[in-house]
Amino acid sequence: MLKTHSCGEINREHVGSQVALAGWVDRRRDHGGLIFIDLRDREGIVQVVFNPEISKACHEIASEMRNEYVISISGEVAVRPPGTENPKLPTGEIEVIAKNAVILNPSKTPPFYINEDTEVEEGVRLKYRYLDLRRARMQKNLLLRHRVIKFIRDFLDARGFIEVETPILIKSTPEGARDYLVPSRVHPGKFYALPQSPQQLKQLLMVAGLEKYFQIARCFRDEDTRADRQPEFTQLDLEMSFVEEEDILSLIEELFTSMVETIKPEMRLIKPFPRLSYAEAMERYGTDKPDLRFGLEIGDLSDIAAQSSFSVFRSAIAEGGKVKGICAPGCANYTRAQFDELNKLVQSLGADGLVTISLGSSAGTLDDLTTEMLKSVAAKFLTLEQVKEMAKRLDANMGDLLLIVAGKPKLVDMVLGELRQEMGHRLKLADSNALAFAFIVDFPLLKQGDKTGEWEPMHHPFTAPRDEDMPLLDSAPQKVRGKHYDLVCNGCEIAGGSIRIHSSELQRKIFRLLGYSDEEVKELFGHLLEAFDYGAPPHGGIAPGIDRIVMLLAREETIREVIAFPKNQSAADLTFGAPSLVTEEQLAELHLRLRDE
Ligand code: ASP
Repeated sequence: MLKTHSCGEINREHVGSQVALAGWVDRRRDHGGLIFIDLRDREGIVQVVFNPEISKACHEIASEMRNEYVISISGEVAVRPPGTENPKLPTGEIEVIAKNAVILNPSKTPPFYINEDTEVEEGVRLKYRYLDLRRARMQKNLLLRHRVIKFIRDFLDARGFIEVETPILIKSTPEGARDYLVPSRVHPGKFYALPQSPQQLKQLLMVAGLEKYFQIARCFRDEDTRADRQPEFTQLDLEMSFVEEEDILSLIEELFTSMVETIKPEMRLIKPFPRLSYAEAMERYGTDKPDLRFGLEIGDLSDIAAQSSFSVFRSAIAEGGKVKGICAPGCANYTRAQFDELNKLVQSLGADGLVTISLGSSAGTLDDLTTEMLKSVAAKFLTLEQVKEMAKRLDANMGDLLLIVAGKPKLVDMVLGELRQEMGHRLKLADSNALAFAFIVDFPLLKQGDKTGEWEPMHHPFTAPRDEDMPLLDSAPQKVRGKHYDLVCNGCEIAGGSIRIHSSELQRKIFRLLGYSDEEVKELFGHLLEAFDYGAPPHGGIAPGIDRIVMLLAREETIREVIAFPKNQSAADLTFGAPSLVTEEQLAELHLRLRDE
């Protein structure tokens, strides 16, 4: 190799020894006589000194060097002269006195600084991803990703799981998203689909007797790229036979706890992971993926509001709605503009508006509250007692602000869930060093489609109903709970999974309930149903999203920061310029003709 050591590993112990190093010029300083090069490789940076008195030729080569040139040098490790040490650098006590130097490849001036973590427009970063990935922050993220995946593999291997690869060219599996299709050359007019997840494949592996399977699996979903999604992403896909819900949850809890404690011991975990039913999560946090790093729980004020003379509240309740709220601590003095912002947010989510009640700004307790201290359009329609009761229910104190929404129950929960998230963010309530994992359980098995009103699976059609709810499948499908669980962390859904149906009879019944005709079932799922008739074991699994986990551990804001070559917000790869046009010949081979739209 061109190098005997990596740049970052050299320290006092190497003083006096000869080393050969290679890497990139991070920075060059020409001090008249001496030239200093900060030489960078994956492991760090070391200072190299070019002294014309030691090697004139070398010094001349160094004067040609510029940032991002690839160079190799050899020389002797020396202690830096007193007063010139750099305590910020792990190699800051030493330097390498160059005796030989070669420019292996020059570099154009990069479009952005590689040696500084400055803000760069994302389009430029993605176009020059190979330069972006050269930056310390991105190298750290990729290394972290590697460690996470390695940890998962070792952890599951030690517990008897085996990794099995499943095909990328497969058949369309209805899992809620749109498929990416691949036209077949050999079968004119037919298409493969890229897997949205290996769901049915892993179930077939259970029928095949694998018992404990996992895969670091790429999944493809052609969704509108809203909310930090990627067209292709990576899941830890996992399935086990002869298990119950509890077995999967405890395995996953142990996996994540030990992963964080090993890889990111400085981060704070909440142990054991709390478990919330779907109903409880919606009631208390207005979402099935609550950020549990802070409180601000939603309180139901409907009974108090019903007693008031405020028509907004009364009419919402009369129409079967709810009046609920949260408390924003210390926000009683919010300005007109701040109220307007919150009101706009609430309206953009579909609510009529936000009712705010400021609880004075003076110190004291709620007992000291007087009508004069209240600031609210609703104040004259509420008695002081009613306000105090509302404040108590929301755990509010003097100086706090009550944020109240009235309307249809689901809408009120959703809007307050978003408002809670917004206030948590504004008030910086979430500890960025904490990972608040929680399991959400007892999901409804089905939901009604917004537009169609037809039954849709809450998770996917393979999830088993809870045994005790089975009789309700015919009479009250909306009340049936599924054996479906999610893992959430810091307001993100990290994993979803379920105990599956393993009887073809029950699976057929669910497909029928979901509106599939017998022909569709045969065409789309015939292979699975047939397999279930050959001794399918009871089984279940889960699929945590690797990108999101690494994002949380890296404390990044988007999954694009932890994926080597992500697509941008409009599903384009800017490095390659994909998607791109193809030739007429390619289309013809695939039996395709483009439509003029
Ligand atoms: N295949 C499911 C998904 O990708 C996860 C699972 O049920 O294991 O969401």
